[in-house]
Amino acid sequence: MSNFHLDIVTPDNLFFSDKVEMVIVRGIDGDLAVLKGRAPITTPLRIGKVRVFQEGKERVAAISDGYVSVQDDKVTIVTESAEWPDDIDIERAKSAKERAEKRLKDRRDNIDIHRAELALHRAINRIEVSQIK
Ligand code: ATP
Repeated sequence: MSNFHLDIVTPDNLFFSDKVEMVIVRGIDGDLAVLKGRAPITTPLRIGKVRVFQEGKERVAAISDGYVSVQDDKVTIVTESAEWPDDIDIERAKSAKERAEKRLKDRRDNIDIHRAELALHRAINRIEVSQIK
């Protein structure tokens, strides 16, 4: 299968930069599988998993929201955060999940429900990805 270049960029680092055979991301309209030669596109991404395929092997990372851009056979994912399973501190993710659930349960007028929902989603996603080996 042909390769193309994938960069995954976060505010902290260039998380990933290498040749890949395919990348699958979760766009706002569902999964988007990108192969070499795909028509240019720039589209928002949801909190979820990015699946990177190299030499027939798949790696999965957790990402926050962001966007993916396909231009001139180069794919760039820009996201607020990205972690491989081994990078994830499970206890931290569980605490973040509990904190967000409590905020959603104790709904008060001044609480930012949408923020708590996003925090919950990020935490659940990290817990799921941490279990992928
Ligand atoms: P928390 O409340 O635990 O900070 P969060 O969802 O608000 O969670 P983010 O704002 O998404 O955290 O991420 C901030 C930074 O911390 C990013 O660099 C992200 O990769 C890292 N990070 C967040 N949660 C974890 C985790 N459970 N394990 C490892 N790194 C994490």
